[in-house]
Amino acid sequence: MAINLEEQIKLLVEMQGMDTHIFKLEDDLESIPVRIKTSDEEYKNKMGNLKNLEEAYKALQVKKKQKDGDLEAKEGAIKKFQTQMYQVKTNKEYAAFQQEIARTKADISLIEEDIIRLLDEIEEENKNITREKEFLKQEDVKLIEEKKRLNEEAGRIKAELDSIKKQRSAMAEKADRAVLAKYDRIIQNKDGLAVVPVSNESCQGCFRVMPPQVINEIKMKDRLVFCENCARILYINE
Ligand SMILES: [Zn+2]
Repeated sequence: MAINLEEQIKLLVEMQGMDTHIFKLEDDLESIPVRIKTSDEEYKNKMGNLKNLEEAYKALQVKKKQKDGDLEAKEGAIKKFQTQMYQVKTNKEYAAFQQEIARTKADISLIEEDIIRLLDEIEEENKNITREKEFLKQEDVKLIEEKKRLNEEAGRIKAELDSIKKQRSAMAEKADRAVLAKYDRIIQNKDGLAVVPVSNESCQGCFRVMPPQVINEIKMKDRLVFCENCARILYINE
């Protein structure tokens, strides 16, 4: 049995409420994979910090290895000078070797200072890496929890959507076919808002002031009244 226009409008107002809720839930649901992706990317950036620290650590070790090599070469040179020194014939040559040895020893102490400094830096970098790894471990736990929470939220939203969509189709069964078709067309073209109240004499969809005869027509409830500006279906809250 067909229901009267007043009932039709009430139904449309209720459907509009449901549709608004459905759109909101659908937006929320769509945002979840985006939020998961953002969290993953943030975590990846943090992993990048660790990679940088590890590279700095490797570079320091390469430097230290070079210095070790330099040190070994200088120590070898001293041994060679000392052997050669016993074969010299003149004091002048002997003095020259002594000078060479003194110079090389000075070089060695500089290299040793460098090595000590590098060892300190390596130790510091190692601490940073340990700290960063610990931080990442905590971040990883947080990420897993965050994803779990978001997936649970998605599940809740889906369940709510299922239930509200069922209610909506039950309601759509009761609506007049032609009225429903109009409603659906407007909702698609007007950003999800097809039925709007008139309050303070203006359409709450586009805020245009409605002439008195339009307001009277809405009150008469014998046909659907559309906003002449935004084409939405109008009603008055009683
Ligand atoms: Zn309007």
